[in-house]
Amino acid sequence: MESVRGRSTKPPASAVWMYLAIGGLVAWLAQALPAGIQTPAGSVPPRTAADDGFTDTPMLPGTSWHVHDPARPHPAVVTPATTPGAAPSDAVVLFDGRDLSRWAHHGTGADSDKLLEPKWIVRDGYFETGARTGSLYSRESFGDVQLHVEWAAPSAVAGNSQGRGNSGIFLMGLYEIQVLDSYNNKTYADGQAAAVYGQWPPLANAARKPGEWQTYDIVFEAPRFQDGRVVKAAFQTVFWNGVVVHNRKEVIGPTIYRAVAQYSAPHAAELPLMLQDHNNPVRFRNIWVRRLGRYDAPEK
Ligand code: MG
Repeated sequence: MESVRGRSTKPPASAVWMYLAIGGLVAWLAQALPAGIQTPAGSVPPRTAADDGFTDTPMLPGTSWHVHDPARPHPAVVTPATTPGAAPSDAVVLFDGRDLSRWAHHGTGADSDKLLEPKWIVRDGYFETGARTGSLYSRESFGDVQLHVEWAAPSAVAGNSQGRGNSGIFLMGLYEIQVLDSYNNKTYADGQAAAVYGQWPPLANAARKPGEWQTYDIVFEAPRFQDGRVVKAAFQTVFWNGVVVHNRKEVIGPTIYRAVAQYSAPHAAELPLMLQDHNNPVRFRNIWVRRLGRYDAPEK
């Protein structure tokens, strides 16, 4: 032990023994006393006005609330899942391992106004893209969301670049976060896994090996239109396997191949989520979505 200004900081031996003895007595009491009387009942002091907040405080800029305003609405209670990555209590579960009842193909040609039963195969708690069966759309529509998706590229590597484990998460059926086997698979940067396809490469390549399950946690803000033109772009925030790869990045328009994206036409505030059929087998599981709340929404 170091000494301070020449004096030893070492405690006398008798103090050490007393310390150990008291510690031992406390430990013995803790295990010897029956449950319920090990600790005195907690004491909760009576509430005061200050516990609810203050109205003699300055106003928060741009709001109608004082700092610590007692009248400010309290957020809704959401019960988080017991395991990381599982759906919280207010999520819309789009796939829980059992069936594709919340999904459909969009008909084409004469069936263009029809929803068709999914042809993708469900097995062992996941489903797999059906090559050339068409992309899959959620039956429900969404706008601003938090989305959790788990996916896996084939463990047997086949193809390269864009032909290896290609699928995609299309928010609103229009704005793609790329799904691709990007483990030692070179392609153009704005087309690799987790890219805002054709616009922004991810901030990092957090790819797991082929066949391993990967997670996307996406926060998507839908664009806003007024008088036929865009007044606020879409934004993507993405965590890939827990690594932030987009930090509220502006999306310049709906995903397009070999061209500059642009918001050429207004669209609905909510549209179906789409999973892309790119003619490669890709597996999905544990998909859930939450509509984003807004600040200071009235209490229900
Ligand atoms: Mg794709």
